[in-house]
Amino acid sequence: MASEINDTSKLCIHTITNKPWDIETAAARYAEAGVKGITVWRNALEGKDVANTGEMIRGHGLEVVSLCRGGFFPHLEKQKRKEAIEENKKIVEEAEALGAPMVVLVCGAEPRQSLEDSRKQIRDGIIETLDHAREHNVKLAIEPLHPMYADTRSAINTLRQANDMAENIQSSHLGIAVDVYHLWWDEDLEQEIARCGRNGNLLAFHVCDWKVPTNDFLLDRGLMGEGCINVPQIREWVENAGFNGMNEVEIFSSTYWEMDQDEYLDNIVKAYLEYV
Ligand code: ZN
Repeated sequence: MASEINDTSKLCIHTITNKPWDIETAAARYAEAGVKGITVWRNALEGKDVANTGEMIRGHGLEVVSLCRGGFFPHLEKQKRKEAIEENKKIVEEAEALGAPMVVLVCGAEPRQSLEDSRKQIRDGIIETLDHAREHNVKLAIEPLHPMYADTRSAINTLRQANDMAENIQSSHLGIAVDVYHLWWDEDLEQEIARCGRNGNLLAFHVCDWKVPTNDFLLDRGLMGEGCINVPQIREWVENAGFNGMNEVEIFSSTYWEMDQDEYLDNIVKAYLEYV
């Protein structure tokens, strides 16, 4: 439980959390609930005018925290790697149009090659995208994913690997998103978070919980307080590392997508106040 009094002034929610809502509904309901930020998933922008959507969100008094997601750089074929880079450049432009300062990267992995090869292609892809990101004043955030996703979603699975890559590339427009779901188990987490902050790379903080048991490794994330992650402890580490951005609630859950979304939003705010 949080040791200090919490409020919603740093509460951001990812649109995917309330997937059944369109983005207009999500923005209106979040604002009514006292939520201050929104991270927009690209599926919520399909068929929309992106710039107008950004205006609509800000009209509700919400800050656009990030656009999710870019990445997926590794491929066996060179042509596909080129296409991935072009796609990421488009995503950077979409973020600029939306007024999002950052694109979160799910970096990708190709199971028919080694993780080392995938990581090399991720590094190349990020470097190729970075000039464009700088020109459009959008930052890229590497999100290390839990190793269970190392087959197809990301070859970057620890904060140490993400720190190594960000420090090696060294750009004012590249940093890291720390997500408790992916990193809670790592015995080096506290020191790697401190390192991430010290080097100016800590750009985002995502929260949810790891349910026991977890019935589906993609679509069964829990509300904060429902599982085994000590979220307040990790929040303290990121804040000690100098992070003062929003705490972003990001929950994929087929169970919660089926329930009444207004009731679910109440539960999210309550869980946030008590367990983040
Ligand atoms: Zn995340």
